[in-house]
Amino acid sequence: MAEGFDAVLIGAGHNTLAAALHLAAKGWRVGVFEQSTVAGGAVKTGDYTLPGFRHDWAAMNLSLFAGSPFFKAYGEELARHGCAFVPVNRPFASSFADSTWAGVSTDKVETLASIRAHSAKDAAAWETLCAGFGAEAPHLFGLLGAPMRFRALAYFMFKTLRAKGVGGTLDMGRFLLSSPRAWLEETFEHPHVRAMLGAWGMHLDFAPDVAGGAMFPYLEGMAGQAFGMLIGQGGADTVTRSLIAAIEARGGVVETRAKVARILHQGGKASGIELLDGRQIAARRAVIAGVAPRALPRLTGGTTPAFDRSMEDFRHAPGTMMIHLAMDALPDWRAGADLQRFAYVHIAPSLDQMARTYQQAAAGMLPDEPILVIGQPTVYDQSRAPDGKHVLWVQVRMAPGTVKGDSKGEITATDWAEAAAPFADRALAILETHAPGTKAKILGRRIVTPLELEADNPNLVGGDQVCGSHHLSQHFLFRPARGHADGSTPITNLHLTGAAVWPGAGTGAGPGFLLARHLAGS
Ligand SMILES: Cc1cc2nc3c(=O)[nH]c(=O)nc-3n(C[C@H](O)[C@H](O)[C@H](O)COP(=O)(O)OP(=O)(O)OC[C@H]3O[C@@H](n4cnc5c(N)ncnc54)[C@H](O)[C@@H]3O)c2cc1C
Repeated sequence: MAEGFDAVLIGAGHNTLAAALHLAAKGWRVGVFEQSTVAGGAVKTGDYTLPGFRHDWAAMNLSLFAGSPFFKAYGEELARHGCAFVPVNRPFASSFADSTWAGVSTDKVETLASIRAHSAKDAAAWETLCAGFGAEAPHLFGLLGAPMRFRALAYFMFKTLRAKGVGGTLDMGRFLLSSPRAWLEETFEHPHVRAMLGAWGMHLDFAPDVAGGAMFPYLEGMAGQAFGMLIGQGGADTVTRSLIAAIEARGGVVETRAKVARILHQGGKASGIELLDGRQIAARRAVIAGVAPRALPRLTGGTTPAFDRSMEDFRHAPGTMMIHLAMDALPDWRAGADLQRFAYVHIAPSLDQMARTYQQAAAGMLPDEPILVIGQPTVYDQSRAPDGKHVLWVQVRMAPGTVKGDSKGEITATDWAEAAAPFADRALAILETHAPGTKAKILGRRIVTPLELEADNPNLVGGDQVCGSHHLSQHFLFRPARGHADGSTPITNLHLTGAAVWPGAGTGAGPGFLLARHLAGS
């Protein structure tokens, strides 16, 4: 074998990079091998439309990373290697067809005014939620950050019972099992307020009626109120670049254009990897695979039938289409210029509409009225565009990976190469109704279909931006499969990490950091 490391990591997503940095800090020699020409997976930035216009390829909102236990441990080191964020004080809002809006600002007076414009009762409900958040947050964040092993979970349950009593613990359990709609309808009366928060479920794959999704609108709403949002200074790739620089400074290696074709193992123990170019790299203590579960049996050539089947059966969520726009100016929102001050503007009209869109995409149909997340990063970070110009980061949720037809009966193509342009036009026509004149301000555009997302990063199967549904049957102890929520596999020294492993998707580096701490013993 060519070269040897203590740990060889497959893929340079932020989880493997975080794991590599922690292991390197503990004295391990690490090598990270990435198939793409650019490291970062879903966290990278580039001039995808016109020179000087910097677009986040996928993740834009880095609040999870900046608020993570990993960043708490390594934030200073990353800052020394150039990691920097821009704070956002108006994280998200929704634009509605009746020319009204509702949004969350870190200034509670502003948030309350925007909610009160729809319902005084809902504004009071928001105040009650905010007042209780400080007491709820440690339990919820404690659960989301806990290793998913029985002992850790039992300890967490014991602490929760002591703090909340039986009634309080059962109430929390009921909330964790609730769908977004169940919780939103119980808590708020106005459809616009419900929709403003329900849109957050759609960032994962929690359509309004999916059990277990209530937590996401709640947490995003409360965290947005309390902390706002953070985006990368100059682009989300500030995270990737600083992680790589820190790993290299500690003697680690990060190699791009290095596709891993095989995981080498003998006698039930992993010993290294083989790259597509035939090079074999030895791993003395661990092979860490940051891949989608379905890829694992192909890379190992097979482990136990039960484990391989659970990896093959891992379910992916519907896909996403991205539209990157270089803009002459920001959209003129019909609901008011206030919307130009928000990082995200959701066009997600109602819970019923979101439920319909999800169902259509899950059935392989192009949604007739997709949900849009309009990111306006240059409102906060002007360095991403030439003077006076802007970029828009448009997420089209949801979109099927494999197109079977069109819910509107207009787009006849069933291959993405042909369906992309008319479907993007449909999305931009929706934006146009909310912000007339936007089309005329577009200087350049780049459409990225679900299949292009997957071609760039094979972990995004069918354009699934969360690398696997987080529905209850595949979350907590079951992510990615029962008995393997800690990333363990039937092969000694081979571990799975990344968004498919508990605690799942997002930029929080949870799967990578939990695994690295486990391997290093602290
Ligand atoms: C469009 C989009 C928007 C998103 N927006 C947000 C957001 O705003 N905020 C947020 O918190 N989260 C967001 N997410 C989710 C979040 O970005 C991801 O969950 C997270 O970045 C996944 O990180 P990861 O470490 O699991 O690996 P990934 O980022 O998926 O990277 C995996 C890497 O492994 C490489 N790889 C795979 N197989 C091999 C192989 N055989 N050999 C070598 N390399 C291999 C891939 O090329 C890739 O670079 C978004 C995701 C997408 C796709």
